[in-house]
Amino acid sequence: MKTKIKPTLESVAVHAGKGKKDQYGSHATPIYQTSTFVFNDVESGARAFRHEEGGASHVYSRLGNPTVEELERAVCELETYSLENGDDYAGMAFGSGMAAITTGIIALAKGGHIVAQDALYGCTSQFLKEEVPVMGMSCSFADMSDLMQVEMELKKHPETKLIYLESIANPTMTVSDIKALSQLAEEYGAKLMVDNTFATPYHIRPFELGADVVVHSTTKYIGGHGSVIGGVMAAKKELIEESETALFRKNLGGIAGPMDAWLTLNGVKTLPLRMKKHAENGMAVARFLENHPKVDYVFYPGLESHPQHALASSIMKDGYGGMIAFELKGGYDAGVSLMNNVKLCTLAVSLGAVDTLIQHPASMTHSIVDEELKKQAGITDGLVRISVGIEGAEDIIADLEQALEIQN
Ligand code: PLP
Repeated sequence: MKTKIKPTLESVAVHAGKGKKDQYGSHATPIYQTSTFVFNDVESGARAFRHEEGGASHVYSRLGNPTVEELERAVCELETYSLENGDDYAGMAFGSGMAAITTGIIALAKGGHIVAQDALYGCTSQFLKEEVPVMGMSCSFADMSDLMQVEMELKKHPETKLIYLESIANPTMTVSDIKALSQLAEEYGAKLMVDNTFATPYHIRPFELGADVVVHSTTKYIGGHGSVIGGVMAAKKELIEESETALFRKNLGGIAGPMDAWLTLNGVKTLPLRMKKHAENGMAVARFLENHPKVDYVFYPGLESHPQHALASSIMKDGYGGMIAFELKGGYDAGVSLMNNVKLCTLAVSLGAVDTLIQHPASMTHSIVDEELKKQAGITDGLVRISVGIEGAEDIIADLEQALEIQN
């Protein structure tokens, strides 16, 4: 008897999430661009509302939609790629990464405390600092690379329901020890929620390391082409049910639209291919920057100088991604000059697109972050963030080289 060979991540990405063949046998996933669904009869509609067997499969697109569900299955399959019990997990798609993050946090931490990473994407940080306290929850911040600090926060706040972090933090590139943190979370009766946007399931799969919830801004690498805003949350079905996350999504109304889900699904199919090139280019650009006389410091998990390089090497598969943060010796002014003089690279926020994007966190994505937190997390005024695209590495390097030559 032939033993079943596990398909590669590349094959899973291409075929993941496939639903039933539609009535015309469409090869590409149909875009079910509809707000509502027709019931065969009153009983089938009523059964669907009572969540009973034999009811209509779909009711209204704010609750669920076949195109959106294909995306949910696809991302979940990638995140649970190597798990034996992958079928126990489910994905939920949202209209943005922030909708996935905020809905997930509200559902999972309701009425309790959150211990969050000090360095986080600006809007997540602002939500936790400013909005969470007026929603009947509380939040304190810790350096997730310091397990003693995290444990102190857990001891101080026995009502902690959630530990929240980014597998690779935006923009400091801090890599977290998800395994150790998931053990701490379990010990203190909390759940561990990981934003895996920078790493993607190509490099890091947080469930394998013990995380309870994974969220993504699919706007970034998963969508991959800078053409759509979206988010996904994945967790064990049991946890989704018990936390009533589907109910919160229904009533907060943050589900993804079918067209956006379809665009994102197209990105999923090439995620491993693109990530391979992002990571190769990321390493080449990081090495170039590290050896440039005008560069003071480069934060890239693949460099030996990265504070968590050993940890990154033990948890990251097939490279270290395409995100780099760096400081120039000339500080803020030199950074501004570089960003104003690039030609191939695009001066824009966001990341994970096929083209190289460069931006200044302190005045852009992280300008809304509390000053104290920024200082604590090491988000300095001189930090430049680059999302290395899939162009030829030599072209990206040549562009940065010419822009670094100019000083104005
Ligand atoms: N998480 C991370 C790490 C991000 O970088 C971003 C956006 O830049 C988000 C979440 C928010 O995602 P979205 O813009 O899709 O709401």
